[in-house]
Amino acid sequence: MSNAAPVTIEPMDEHNRALLGHVHPPDWVNPEPAAKYNIVVIGGGPAGLIVAAGAAGLGAKVALIEKHLLGGDCLIVGCVPSKCVIRSSRVAAEFRDAADYGIRFDGEPDIDFAAVMERMRKVRADLSHVDAAKRYQEELGVDIFLGEAKFSGKDGIEVAGKTLRYRRAVIATGARAAVLPIEGLEGSGYLTNETVFSLTERPKRLAVLGSGPIGCELAQAFQNLGSEVTVVELSSQILGREDRDAAQILHDRMKRDGVRFLLGATTRRVTTDGPEKVLHVEIDGKEELLRVDAILLGVGRQPNIEALNLEAAGIEYDARRGVKVDDHLRTTNPAVYAAGDVCMAWKFTHAADFAARIVIQNALFSVGFLGRKKLSALTMPWCTYTHPEVAHVGLSEQDATEKGVAIDTFVQPLSEVDRAVADGDTEGFVKVHVKKGTDRILGATIVARNAGDMISEITLAMTNGIGLGSIANTIHPYPTQADAIRKVGDLYNRTRLTPTVKKWMERWLAFRL
Ligand SMILES: Cc1cc2nc3c(=O)[nH]c(=O)nc-3n(C[C@H](O)[C@H](O)[C@H](O)COP(=O)(O)OP(=O)(O)OC[C@H]3O[C@@H](n4cnc5c(N)ncnc54)[C@H](O)[C@@H]3O)c2cc1C
Repeated sequence: MSNAAPVTIEPMDEHNRALLGHVHPPDWVNPEPAAKYNIVVIGGGPAGLIVAAGAAGLGAKVALIEKHLLGGDCLIVGCVPSKCVIRSSRVAAEFRDAADYGIRFDGEPDIDFAAVMERMRKVRADLSHVDAAKRYQEELGVDIFLGEAKFSGKDGIEVAGKTLRYRRAVIATGARAAVLPIEGLEGSGYLTNETVFSLTERPKRLAVLGSGPIGCELAQAFQNLGSEVTVVELSSQILGREDRDAAQILHDRMKRDGVRFLLGATTRRVTTDGPEKVLHVEIDGKEELLRVDAILLGVGRQPNIEALNLEAAGIEYDARRGVKVDDHLRTTNPAVYAAGDVCMAWKFTHAADFAARIVIQNALFSVGFLGRKKLSALTMPWCTYTHPEVAHVGLSEQDATEKGVAIDTFVQPLSEVDRAVADGDTEGFVKVHVKKGTDRILGATIVARNAGDMISEITLAMTNGIGLGSIANTIHPYPTQADAIRKVGDLYNRTRLTPTVKKWMERWLAFRL
């Protein structure tokens, strides 16, 4: 049976055709199912693909089922397209700021939005061969089934008229944009991450509902690409999961880029006025009308669980949090595991990746309690790819207070880091928390141009028990922005120079005169 691709990506140009050729070939014929599989994986995003490739590489008989496009949100409507659009928007922003660096142009940069989006589609297609159905089936030995999966019982999964029998199954169906129940929103029409990357024309005025990572990244990118963007946020702070000082730096920067913020604001209803969408926003008890051409929702993620018939397999779930799993990523059906956005609070590709590795180990090789790996053992960094980037790992000050953990905090502002000053990137800092009285790193926040790259040094230290004192002793090339991390180590070392130590050193040096 052939599976024509459900065409939900637009426009259908050469790049999107090439993409589909890899991740949902129009002439794909599902294989005949094996009598039984070691693992059947539902969902071909990062979590599912890594479980499938890893398990097959270890010799397991594996089937992977994908209802839409292999690659999942990350490749199709998430990380990859957003980072492409952000890259173009940064070029535009650098052009605008060029005079600060002594480079002058006449007038504004001419932004060809259609060309920006075409570049994104080309890059996405170029990267898609890695997740290709043919590669998985012919090179990696995974049986690829295109179609929607649902459980038919405790050991069977149905797809496209066939039943696949499994010893272990893995649910990796991801999440989608949550939709707010705002009166009139449905009728007025809105964009989500599933549709925004299909645009070929720039919305002149864009309202972004929500100021989490997705909202902030896309708000700043569209503003820099020439839209007039207003962010509407319920809370008084953007990036609610981050430290207030970190979020404030980004807030200030986005305001300078021209983004307008309505904070502490609730969208009560949406009406239309001809082609305009009118948001009725309540702030401080007063109504403000916000007239825009498009609305983008970035108000959180909702797990994809509805179509799975989880009840048939005895798998418990929560409509908001997704499939219920224990620390070993096992569901309430002991033969079924889950990984990625469908079950985890960390909704990142790298989190899905490392969860998938835990699932391979636990599903295939653990015996009873022996050899079982835990999700809670992971040290998880994350980053919001705005300018500047905001990256974090481990505990925040608030987490430490809530858990009653005593910490010392060291902060190195970028305004005192030579390379950041030379680059004109002085908005930002490196902040590291250590266990009080020790150099054991418990967490860090970095706000910097490349904070997402810089945070890995701290993550490496945390994962391997390397203390802040050792980071101080590690030579960093001069001048780099990452040298700020070594300088935080110096700040820690200075605290070891207590008055007593100093007195003894002075006596020793006096003796050596
Ligand atoms: C705009 C945006 C930007 C992002 N940027 C980043 C970033 O920069 N860095 C980062 O780490 N993360 C980022 N993320 C998050 C990242 O995309 C997700 O965390 C990641 O894709 C989760 O992987 P997953 O495998 O759990 O789920 P998904 O990638 O969602 O894949 C799930 C797959 O399951 C399929 N499926 C669902 N139901 C069924 C069914 N019944 N039968 C068969 N198949 C089914 C879906 O079609 C989908 O292909 C971003 C997300 C968005 C929306």
